[in-house]
Amino acid sequence: MTTTAAPATAPFRFFDVQVVRALRVSTSVVRITFGGERLDALASGGRDQRFKLFLPQPHQDRPVFDDTGDGWYTAWRAQDPAERPVMRSYTIREQRHEPREFDVDFALHGAGGGTPSTAGGPASRWAAAARPGDRLTVLAPAVEDNGGIDFRPPAGTDWILLTGDETALPAIAGILSWLSPGTHAKVWIEIDHEDDRQHLPTFADADITWLVRDGAGAAHPEPVLSAVRAAKLPEGTPYAWIAGEAGTVKALRRHLVRERGIDRGAVKFTGYWRRGATEEDLIAELMAGAAAPSDED
Ligand SMILES: Cc1cc2nc3c(=O)[nH]c(=O)nc-3n(C[C@H](O)[C@H](O)[C@H](O)COP(=O)(O)OP(=O)(O)OC[C@H]3O[C@@H](n4cnc5c(N)ncnc54)[C@H](O)[C@@H]3O)c2cc1C
Repeated sequence: MTTTAAPATAPFRFFDVQVVRALRVSTSVVRITFGGERLDALASGGRDQRFKLFLPQPHQDRPVFDDTGDGWYTAWRAQDPAERPVMRSYTIREQRHEPREFDVDFALHGAGGGTPSTAGGPASRWAAAARPGDRLTVLAPAVEDNGGIDFRPPAGTDWILLTGDETALPAIAGILSWLSPGTHAKVWIEIDHEDDRQHLPTFADADITWLVRDGAGAAHPEPVLSAVRAAKLPEGTPYAWIAGEAGTVKALRRHLVRERGIDRGAVKFTGYWRRGATEEDLIAELMAGAAAPSDED
């Protein structure tokens, strides 16, 4: 299973960026627009383009790095955890060239909106409070065809299956806007509130199902899993891209491979977060080798 933690590979570069504006697009999502002097060198490949962001610690006004050269990861890990930037994975929702900006949609998962400041994690809390001029650093692609894009349907794909939650919505939006006209796509998106629905422009023939949790919680866990299980899927050769909470993603992948007989190589699956685990926990597991895929997954 793809995990959240692997350091990005070249050709990625560090960019110092600042918040241009923050827009609360819905109850659960804030869209932060970033600008920066060198952003002409940033090249998003669209789709599910991932990147790393580095947040300052609460007592800092910008992220403090010992080294942003080739050995950055070792240097970052060696820094005092109270001083080193907090690293998180996100998706470029949209890049624009005039002016040079890019948007990132942050799912707040409890942060902001008058909730206690302990809700959410460092990234969602940072996003909930972000103001124009706030500074951070990103490790982002410098060429469009880069290793931070997972959505790569092979030739011969007849239809596309996409599932995700609020954290995967930016990637799903990017994928839908990238698909060729007429591509048949079945899409399931789980959101917290009715107003978290977004307009998702696409030329694809996309059948999008929104699944609103609306506080259902334990009564209806994993609505996206139930919906896909109950669905009649199209004939032909599918390519599936599934992301969101790691447990749900794993269960979905198992369903698609074992019960639907989809070739496991045609199911791209990524745990974007895991209930009860911070991204540091996931990195620690990765380093310990605990997140390695197995045939049982
Ligand atoms: C490739 C990739 C792309 C991603 N793109 C995006 C994106 O564009 N937008 C986006 O919002 N997220 C995205 N994510 C997910 C994001 O990195 C995680 O949600 C991350 O944990 C948020 O960091 P945090 O500091 O707020 O919380 P953490 O400190 O990591 O976690 C704190 C607590 O919050 C819980 N938590 C984390 N995320 C959620 C959630 N969504 N809902 C409920 N509880 C949660 C954790 O289980 C933990 O208990 C992406 C992840 C990956 C791997």
